[in-house]
Amino acid sequence: MPDSIYMDCAATTPVREEVRLALAEATERLYGNPSSIHTTGQEAKRVLEESREQLAGLIGARHGELIFTSGGTESDNLAVSGVVLANDDKGCHIVTGAIEHHAVLNCCRALEEEGYELTVVGAGADGLVDPDEVERAIRPDTVLVSIMTANNETGALQPVAEIGAIAKERGVLFHTDAVQALGKVAIDVDAMNADLVSLSAHKIYGPKGVGGLFVRKGTMLKPLAYGGHHERALRPGTENVPGIAAFAQAAQLAVSEMAASVPRVAALRDRLWEGISTSIPSATRNGSVYRCLPNILNVSFAAIDGEALLLNLDLLGIAMSTGSACTAGAAGPSHVLEAMGIEPRLAQSSVRFSLGRDNTAAEVERVLAVLPDIVKRLGDVSAIRL
Ligand code: PLP
Repeated sequence: MPDSIYMDCAATTPVREEVRLALAEATERLYGNPSSIHTTGQEAKRVLEESREQLAGLIGARHGELIFTSGGTESDNLAVSGVVLANDDKGCHIVTGAIEHHAVLNCCRALEEEGYELTVVGAGADGLVDPDEVERAIRPDTVLVSIMTANNETGALQPVAEIGAIAKERGVLFHTDAVQALGKVAIDVDAMNADLVSLSAHKIYGPKGVGGLFVRKGTMLKPLAYGGHHERALRPGTENVPGIAAFAQAAQLAVSEMAASVPRVAALRDRLWEGISTSIPSATRNGSVYRCLPNILNVSFAAIDGEALLLNLDLLGIAMSTGSACTAGAAGPSHVLEAMGIEPRLAQSSVRFSLGRDNTAAEVERVLAVLPDIVKRLGDVSAIRL
């Protein structure tokens, strides 16, 4: 069998060589506890703070405005719960989007169960949130607006700067989940008018279990856990220094390579779509073509089961997904496609290819060579079943 092809980079990415070596080296050398005042501890502390400086600089933040977490999920939960719980004297209303990742959506729903109020704004057929709708949803008692920078299923790039400006004008805090956007589009916390920004290392060829949260100076947050005074007392626990150093390095590499990697990956994605739409005319592309990440292609293949397509491609060593990795295996169509008005059966036939730095033009051609036959075969089977 030829080498396997990995086109599921929105789910996760392999740790790249430079980062893997740095992680191994840091694991061996930086075992000190950054809170210890001896030399071994202070060496770890120095690397921790250098990593913070580096990562903060990449998103236009100041050193003290970035805290490290265990990943995007924790960052989202800390941002949403943290703001809402710390500001409940000001109001009890949250505005978020129907296409958000479950790390935001389910956190908001959990708060709703506790008595907080929630308005979930929809998305257009192109997967974009309308800033006017966000504005209409804001009430005098709104304390937080949370809208993601880029959607993980369609790649749709949301008008976050506009939404952030609206929130700012209305005196409401603005959080954006930029987990999928880092390393693919420029992230500038000021240009986005963001008060809180979530990041994760494993989507950018860094290790799993490490993330970051930008918290604008002066923003009140209630921690999710209690312990020592680590990470401005917002995220207690001994810091994962090797993971954090690796995260900062992965982010530095991803951002510095963006000018070259974005057009290269976008060209592969465009060729993939061109080939699919030519050989399978019934295929439809989901999400904005104009405002999108370079690497994600979400396609519906009418009348076939997306999961069956995934498994058939997997047998040939090709990895992709039927939407978000966190909901893979969950019953029912994607909540993102549903929010875009895509009817459930079509949504169920949808798959996501998410490309990355290791994909090649030859791999795209290999996928295009096998896809039409599989889609036809699965279509024939479902036609018999109907
Ligand atoms: N937010 C988005 C948009 C994501 O795509 C993901 C990962 O799937 C997360 C949050 C969760 O990040 P992590 O896996 O680091 O917890």
